[in-house]
Amino acid sequence: MQVREQRLRRDIEANAAFGSVAVENGHGRTVLTGTEADREAREYFCERLRDAGLDVRVDGVGNIVGRWTPESADPDAAAVAAGSHLDSVPEGGIFDGPLGVYSALEAVRAMQDAGVEPARPVEVVCFTEEEGQRFDGGLLGSAVAAGEMSLETALALEDESGVTLEAALDDIGFLGEGRVAADEWHAWLELHIEQSERLEDAGIPAGIVTTITGLSRCAIEITGEANHAGSTLMDDRSDALAGASEFVLDVERAARERVEAESDTAVATVGKLDVGPGAPNVIPGRAELTLDVRDIEQESIEYVVDRAKRSLDSIETERDVTTAFERPWNRHPVPMSDRCRTALEAAGETANIDTLSLHSGAAHDTMHVANVTDAGLLFAPSRDGISHNPLEWTEWEDCAASTRVLAGALTRLADADE
Ligand SMILES: [Zn+2]
Repeated sequence: MQVREQRLRRDIEANAAFGSVAVENGHGRTVLTGTEADREAREYFCERLRDAGLDVRVDGVGNIVGRWTPESADPDAAAVAAGSHLDSVPEGGIFDGPLGVYSALEAVRAMQDAGVEPARPVEVVCFTEEEGQRFDGGLLGSAVAAGEMSLETALALEDESGVTLEAALDDIGFLGEGRVAADEWHAWLELHIEQSERLEDAGIPAGIVTTITGLSRCAIEITGEANHAGSTLMDDRSDALAGASEFVLDVERAARERVEAESDTAVATVGKLDVGPGAPNVIPGRAELTLDVRDIEQESIEYVVDRAKRSLDSIETERDVTTAFERPWNRHPVPMSDRCRTALEAAGETANIDTLSLHSGAAHDTMHVANVTDAGLLFAPSRDGISHNPLEWTEWEDCAASTRVLAGALTRLADADE
């Protein structure tokens, strides 16, 4: 099967022109949902789908599906689907999302060129608002497709100026009907840039994801007493920031211990700290922190969260402060299906392309899809691990090699017996 690097590159480069941002180094683009740039990117994509003979459908949340139903395929059989997203973060790169969308299309074209006769229809998918930059949250289109968010809830989401997603999609002509149902897919695959350096370090063009990490977000508040920095003696203080400092180091220690003893993928981060009242001559009376814990094993997440709570208990006793702890977000790790991983591995072997098994530390649309059908996630190398940045780069030959793996796996999964 012949994946054509130039054809794939032309599409990704053409897509990069929509919302392109002038930068000194690299290639930047800003494509927010429901903007002019989004409309252009979507229209170009639909044209390319039609050029390849696919039937195009847009659903009620703007998800786009191009469906290939060759003579060999049973039109009523569950389809095999692949894709990603076309939106970006502000001044994002040109590969995060578009590689997955256009590699899926190139895979179908390669199957067509090679005369592959799939028993199932094959669908090429673009999900709406993956990055969550204009309308809350992220992974929005896939959440609706997986039934985790209702169409009504999604369409009612508003941006900062009060424009609803429904109005924004309508405005660019991409408010369709019905709902793409991910649970009806026989299998799903997504090719995405890795966004870290493991593949680059190993010199391997394709990574097969084992698990997408789970994530817990916690909110912590420590309350002491704001008082005069000069006239309050050390023994009389109740310093919220000093307590918070102990907490930060306790959490770091807990994560490091977990890494040494059990799971080297466990990570914990206090990424935000607000101190009040925030004056040089006032003892901090209040500290608000966030805690972000991730791993491919839920036990690690529970371990670190538990240690964080115990740290707060001891800070309360020793420092005469009160603490509050909330855990508004807890997303379990999502393993990829054996069937999809096997198909990707076999495709790599057949095409003589080295692959590497790794986990994903970042969330992707595949996370939602994996909750309702068999799903697989494939990574292409990211230069220096950089993404969400105009310096984001994946070599064209790596784009082509990973697309070859994707095409082989889709061919396998679209076979009657798989
Ligand atoms: Zn992405």
